[in-house]
Amino acid sequence: MKQLLVMCLISLASLGFAQDTEQIDISGWVSARPDLLGKKGTPALSYGDEQQRLIDRDIYNNARRNSVWCPTDSLWEQRRIDMGLNRFGKAPCPTEGNCDDPAVRDATDTSAKVVNIYVHLMRNSDGTGGVNIDNARAAYKQMVNDYAGTGLTFNLVGAQWVNDSNYAVIPAYTPFNLNWLNAINGMKQAYAVWPQYVCNIFVSGQTSSPFGVLLGIATFPWDPAALTKTGGLWINNVAMSRGQHTFAHELGHCFGLWHTQHGVSEVASCSACYEFADGSNGDVAGDFCSDTPPTPTNYNCSGPGGSDCQGTPWGPTQPENFMGYGPDSCQTLFTSQQVSRMHCWLADANPLWITQ
Ligand SMILES: [Zn+2]
Repeated sequence: MKQLLVMCLISLASLGFAQDTEQIDISGWVSARPDLLGKKGTPALSYGDEQQRLIDRDIYNNARRNSVWCPTDSLWEQRRIDMGLNRFGKAPCPTEGNCDDPAVRDATDTSAKVVNIYVHLMRNSDGTGGVNIDNARAAYKQMVNDYAGTGLTFNLVGAQWVNDSNYAVIPAYTPFNLNWLNAINGMKQAYAVWPQYVCNIFVSGQTSSPFGVLLGIATFPWDPAALTKTGGLWINNVAMSRGQHTFAHELGHCFGLWHTQHGVSEVASCSACYEFADGSNGDVAGDFCSDTPPTPTNYNCSGPGGSDCQGTPWGPTQPENFMGYGPDSCQTLFTSQQVSRMHCWLADANPLWITQ
């Protein structure tokens, strides 16, 4: 039955959705060669515009060191307050659902699952602009490679160009208004497909501002919007390239992962959700994974230095975790508990995204 549904989805996808979209040949995307990724001697990708590529790389590198490159955690905290939602359970640090229970997490079936995704690349109405297609394909393959070993693989239901100048480049990030977020939600409302069955991936540019550039933002599975058109995730064009891990990071949020710094830099010091450096409450605070050491937000491959609110040194932490803010060059890891959380939240909250 599920296979039939997927075939129907693929058939529909091949028809296109509207005159302002254009299907992309994904035959070169799905045959990923993880063995070639990041290896010396890999044939260079062709770039249509070398200067644009260098500009993109510069914006990307600056954004990667910006204070806020992925506001997923903070946006959800604000949305929960706005919606007046009470969180599940009565633990000292409130939880979002059953999968936040470490016993449930650890008992989760992590056998292989295939997740439906659909990629939408935004560009101008006349077909100009948008992400470099070679980069987009390379970023997709990198993401598939990053999930190797998690038991999660992907069914790319389709990919399409969306020719709509309203969303080719979204407004600049600023803490003073939500024009940037309204644009992301606008493109999702207009072009997302089958959100109950597919994780929708949107890719566009963003105007730079003194407040920085966002690289991505995603929707947690417990968010009431998760299975609506405004679920899924958005990635900046500049974060879609070979060797970049923003795609894996944002999908991690969609599958139920917080930032590794969530228990430290993203909560009040020594509060109920504060994750202590001694590891004593790692299962029930912060990111709800005791095998991801607590850390302040850290943009480096080495430990952050310093100590927690009780004076315990942070130690080496885990800058290689995909859910932190470490440089791409050292990000290599989802932990065992993160893998279990992803399988748990997917099955619990987004079961129809799983095709088999
Ligand atoms: Zn994030």
